[in-house]
Amino acid sequence: MDVLTREQRSLCMSRIRGKNTRPEMRLRLALWAVGLRYRIHARLPGRPDVVFPSARVAVFVDGCFWHGCPDHGVKPKTNAQFWEEKIASNAARDRRNNAALQEAGWSIVRIWEHELRGDLTGVVRRIRKLVVSRRSRSAVKKPSKT
Ligand SMILES: [Zn+2]
Repeated sequence: MDVLTREQRSLCMSRIRGKNTRPEMRLRLALWAVGLRYRIHARLPGRPDVVFPSARVAVFVDGCFWHGCPDHGVKPKTNAQFWEEKIASNAARDRRNNAALQEAGWSIVRIWEHELRGDLTGVVRRIRKLVVSRRSRSAVKKPSKT
């Protein structure tokens, strides 16, 4: 049974295909511009958009709609129940992935899509601060090279 309208389905497909486009690309470019080097497509729970392996920082860009942003999580009127359940299950999955990553020693940054539009510089600063502080901490722990 097909629960999606044609428009919803094509929106869905474009979101899936668009894994490499828009909000997360903007963030990656901005991080690169301030000299931060990262990995993408890391095989970690929830498939973080950007990963800093040495600092063990994982960054997710959460779409306002799909992840139920409190400001922009508009509730579609058609198939309201379907979408409500879908978004609730996304949120539950986010929490499970967060827990799995934290257990493995990762620090997690979750950024709303709208934060990138509103304050990209602030988001980049926040990530850089965390990455730098986590890197220096792990550098202290490592035995010094001779
Ligand atoms: Zn939002």
